[in-house]
Amino acid sequence: MTLAKESIPAEAIAPPQQLSLQLDADAPHRAIASSKTAPFVGQGLAPLNQSIAPSHGEIVSARRAASRKKSKKSTAQTNGKSPRRASSPVPGGAALCQRVFTRLGCDGRPPRFRVEFYPYASLTLTIRRREEVVFVRFSDLLRRAPLPVLEGAAALLLSRVFRRKAPRALVAPYLNYARSNRTRSRVSQMRRGRVRLASTSPQGRHFDLEKMFRQLNEKYFLGNLQRPHIGWSTRSWRRQFGCYDPGPNQILLNRRMDHPAVPQVAVEYVLYHEMLHVKHPTRRSGCSLVSHSPEFRAEEKLFVNYSQARKILDRLAR
Ligand SMILES: [Zn+2]
Repeated sequence: MTLAKESIPAEAIAPPQQLSLQLDADAPHRAIASSKTAPFVGQGLAPLNQSIAPSHGEIVSARRAASRKKSKKSTAQTNGKSPRRASSPVPGGAALCQRVFTRLGCDGRPPRFRVEFYPYASLTLTIRRREEVVFVRFSDLLRRAPLPVLEGAAALLLSRVFRRKAPRALVAPYLNYARSNRTRSRVSQMRRGRVRLASTSPQGRHFDLEKMFRQLNEKYFLGNLQRPHIGWSTRSWRRQFGCYDPGPNQILLNRRMDHPAVPQVAVEYVLYHEMLHVKHPTRRSGCSLVSHSPEFRAEEKLFVNYSQARKILDRLAR
């Protein structure tokens, strides 16, 4: 059983209009989905309109990402901060995408591309088709990236939308750039400024996460774990039980778990899993990023009712 291949099934995802790729170790860990949900990797063409974090194989609905963005915008407005961040064209972006289109072996005339840098809260790439025009957006973190990095980013997006296999050599510069320590620290730094803390209380209707955190901290961490922000998600999530976002340093649990029918041990286990993410930050190992390291996994099994909790979560995820 592995939590590394966590995903949301295709039916949770809105109609094909938009694809967004997120390669960002320090983005939230959308941890703990059912082991029964099909892993994203190897499914062929990704259902569109989703956001993917290939490092974990985790999928989140882009609709949710969009509404999150919307709510962030409205908060910014009420705070009197600049309500909208500007995008800017990528110089030579259209020609770049056409070149990549051809290099991927796509047939026919390339579509019209509009390519821009966009101030996402993460290292995100998106592609959207609207009639004849294909809109590509790169995270503005790539503004000063070398050309092969942008080509790699475009190749990742276009290969999915046009169902071509991107040659490794073409995407490698982007993957290396995205996974480098330097980029990752820039992402973390940026996220601190761009990610809004979900304003939610740890006190639910049925479970008090604050109290639970204290108890778990005493029991498993000798009281040494620094307390992050903790709360219930403001909306119900479909398949995701918990999430730790190192940007705002916040643990959120799916509010659907704040229910008398959910055994306390399951809630405790999800919180414990997210607490382990606080303790074991995602690190780089060779070419990949490790969120659930062997040490993480070993420590996770120290949870007293581990198998019982996992069974309950599998049942809840059905
Ligand atoms: Zn996790």
